[in-house]
Amino acid sequence: MKKEFIFLGPPACGKGTQTSKLAGYFNLPHVDTGSLLRAEIASGSQNGQIAKSFIDKGHLVPVELVGTIIKERLSAPDCQNGYILDGFPRSEEQANMLTKINEEIDGDNPVDFRAIYFDIDERILIDRIIHRQSCPKCGEIYNKKFRPSKVENICDKCQVELKTRADDNEEVAKARFDTYYRQTAPLIEFYENKGVLRKIDANGSIEEVWERLLKAVQE
Ligand code: AMP
Repeated sequence: MKKEFIFLGPPACGKGTQTSKLAGYFNLPHVDTGSLLRAEIASGSQNGQIAKSFIDKGHLVPVELVGTIIKERLSAPDCQNGYILDGFPRSEEQANMLTKINEEIDGDNPVDFRAIYFDIDERILIDRIIHRQSCPKCGEIYNKKFRPSKVENICDKCQVELKTRADDNEEVAKARFDTYYRQTAPLIEFYENKGVLRKIDANGSIEEVWERLLKAVQE
């Protein structure tokens, strides 16, 4: 059955790391709206410029812009057997949009749709964000404080220089949390009411959370 997995949780809760791993495990595409938007910015397009003005403030990019990108991405042939969708939906409006997109793509075919909520102690998250780095080539995520690369600022795998996201500073991070609580957190109840929510304890090591995630997507 086609697997459609979406993920909820505050910024820096570990979704990025775990969902990339999950995509590899199931051999499904990892569709990550944050990365798609950053690629749009890097391309220099007009949509990229619009997206940047919202991302820089920690606000949600307008729904029409993200919706168009997502619809196109989820309709691509490599999503035929399913997708690991990280970062969308982030509001009730987007959740309703996703339902509509899925109905258009899947018709009456049965799907395994789950929303996995990463439940985490939020006090550590700002600290995680401001020390976060990632490899521009392979996407591996490091943390200067909690998970440093072997050689400072260099990816262990690719040997290229690690980058810090422009929105990973304290001021924007606080705005991102505010956006999360106001617009995204209500989706936990939204999906619980639909009977498709799976909650996992996202505290602990990458390996511990991975074991819990595997259970949540398989049982
Ligand atoms: P992320 O990489 O998931 O932390 O996302 C970085 C930023 O991209 C967010 O703070 C938003 O400004 C924007 N963004 C990512 N996903 C969405 C979305 N589904 N809707 C609107 N904006 C988004």
